[in-house]
Order: sequence, then C-alpha cells, then structure tokens
Amino acid sequence: MVADVTVVGTGIIALTAAIEIADRGRSVRLVGTTHSGNASSAAGGMLAPSVGRESGSAYDFAVASRDRYPAFAAALSERSGRPVPINTAGILEVALTETEAAELKDSIERPSRWLSAEELAREEPGFAPAFGAVMHPLDGSVEPLPLLDALRAVVASHDGITTAREDCCELNASELGCSVLTGMENRFASDYVVLAAGVWTPLIVGAGKAAHQVVGDRRADRIAHLEHDDGGAGAGAGGGLGAHGRGHRCHRRAEHEGAARSIQRANTAGPHR
Ligand SMILES: Cc1cc2nc3c(=O)[nH]c(=O)nc-3n(C[C@H](O)[C@H](O)[C@H](O)COP(=O)(O)OP(=O)(O)OC[C@H]3O[C@@H](n4cnc5c(N)ncnc54)[C@H](O)[C@@H]3O)c2cc1C
Repeated sequence: MVADVTVVGTGIIALTAAIEIADRGRSVRLVGTTHSGNASSAAGGMLAPSVGRESGSAYDFAVASRDRYPAFAAALSERSGRPVPINTAGILEVALTETEAAELKDSIERPSRWLSAEELAREEPGFAPAFGAVMHPLDGSVEPLPLLDALRAVVASHDGITTAREDCCELNASELGCSVLTGMENRFASDYVVLAAGVWTPLIVGAGKAAHQVVGDRRADRIAHLEHDDGGAGAGAGGGLGAHGRGHRCHRRAEHEGAARSIQRANTAGPHR
C-alpha cells in the first residue's frame, strides 16, 4: 500500500505528527523502532518557556505550545482512555548560591516573581537552604511516559495509520515523490516524508541537516517541580505556589542528567511542488 505520508520516528514528535496528519484525512505510514536513549522517554516533561527564556518567535512558539498543552492532554486522554497528567502549579527556579540569586533576580520578567529565601522556606520548607527562587506561575509539566502511552494507543487504533517496525536508512525526495528505504530493504513510497527520528535523523542518508534545532534546558539544574500530595503524581492542576503553599510536596527532578544538551529536531522533506 502506498501511503500519502511517511512519518519516520517513534517519539512524541513522530506519533503526534502521524495522528494530526491522519486526522486530516491523509493515509500515514509510521516507520521506526524505539532506540534506547530516545528523548521522549527520558524527558522531564517541563512545559517551561520562562526558564532559560528564548527571545522572539522561539519564545512565542514555546509559550503557545505550553498554553495548548492542557487542552491537548485532555483531548488525548479522552480519546485514548488513558491518563495524561498535567501539572499547572508553576515552576520554581531555585538559586543555590548568592551569585545565582543575583542573576535570577536580574532576569525576572512578568508574571514571574522573586521569592526571598525566607518566603521560599516558608512556602516550601524542603528548599530552606536555598537563596531564594523565581516562581514562574504559568509554567508546568506533563508526565512524558503516560503521554507516550496515550499517543501510542491512539496510533494503534487509528484507521488512517499503518506502522512498520523497522528503521529508515535512506530518504529519496524528487519532483515525482518520496521514498524511504528501511534496514529490512523495504522501500515505502509516499507524497511526503516527515523525518522525526530525533538525534538519529542526520544518520539517515539523504536527510541533510536539520532545518532548525532548539537547544534548551541550559539551566535545568536549578529547576524544581511541584506536585500535590493529595492529587497523585503530577496531578496538581490548581493554582500556584503562592496561593497553595500548604499540602504541596516539593522535590527536585533529575532532568539535568543529559538535559543540558537536549535537542529537538523535526525535519520535513517533500517533493518540490
Ligand atoms: C534528559 C532529557 C530531558 C528533557 N527534558 C525536557 C523537558 O523537561 N521539557 C521539554 O520540553 N523537553 C525536554 N527534553 C527534550 C524532549 O524530550 C525532546 O525534544 C522530545 O522528546 C523529542 O522528541 P522526538 O520525537 O523528536 O525524539 P525522540 O523521542 O528521541 O524520538 C526519536 C525516535 O526515532 C527513533 N529512530 C531513531 N533512528 C531511527 C530511524 N533510522 N528510523 C526510524 N526511527 C528512528 C528512535 O528510536 C526514537 O524513538 C528532554 C530531553 C532529554 C534527553
């Protein structure tokens, strides 16, 4: 069968692209296997454009993405029948030294606000030794593994998506159309190819360089998530720290492990029409 679109990859970007394209009535073939080290399973799930803030359209894009996540997650959850927990309680960017505190204070933009060491200790006793923190009230997080699980469930039941569990080795794109060659020597033809194989994308012959890369989480070692004791993991959807200091459990998450060089990539190749 010839699909309208071949989507290469198995992470959050490939799964989401496959569903969105198929929902618009195009037939999709999803090609890929899951490599250990894929970013979607390792991610901290932070929806935090206020941290390590970009400028211009990159920032606007990140904010728009964050703000659409609650509706996206709710729709995905309903459709898949699986929970996709979102936390909208805000993100604390904690200063561990006086120097960091001074830098963070200098960088604050509304609606983010500074919490002094005393305020932070009062609101979140677990952070008592810290020198203060910036509260980013509009930022939050999503649980990546349930998100992946829900996306996979929708893909598996979607009439418009077929899957081939084999890796793409080579891409060919011309005036006449596209094709991908897999490691099992299958060649799949389509009008368009979406390359979403994460950091592996440049290894695909014919893929070329990424059109754009976003390198984020440069200050991930100063980031903390808030979760509600009473709502289950990641279920904190009500208000920010300032208004709901009691009953929160605070802990730092380990997304600094490798996060300093997280790379988001999504290449698109298609015939030159
Ligand atoms: C440690 C860590 C923490 C992060 N924390 C955050 C965070 O808090 N907030 C945030 O917004 N972002 C975060 N990120 C970034 C985010 O996880 C990624 O931007 C996102 O998951 C990228 O998804 P993806 O589908 O493009 O890539 P991936 O999830 O890497 O998926 C690519 C897939 O392609 C498959 N593949 C590889 N080669 C081939 C091939 N030849 N053919 C077919 N398929 C192939 C792989 O098996 C893999 O499953 C983090 C990343 C890391 C590594």
